[in-house]
Amino acid sequence: MDCFICGTESREVPSTGDFKQVACSECGEYRLSGTAIALFKEHNWKFDVDLTRRWLTTQQLLGTIPLIDSSRAASLI
Ligand SMILES: [Zn+2]
Repeated sequence: MDCFICGTESREVPSTGDFKQVACSECGEYRLSGTAIALFKEHNWKFDVDLTRRWLTTQQLLGTIPLIDSSRAASLI
């Protein structure tokens, strides 16, 4: 699959829940909620790659896998 953020070929990590977990060599590991994915498709949004990676990095440094939900996604486009 392609990374939702940067489009790099990435790996989907099997997970349970209403989100997709993605391991991208460029962005690291993150989760994108089902509602956020639907919004992106509906509105043809694109992530601001630099902005999104900066936010992901701050979350990853805390030791958590960042979850981008629909409200977060709206601030990262
Ligand atoms: Zn990526």
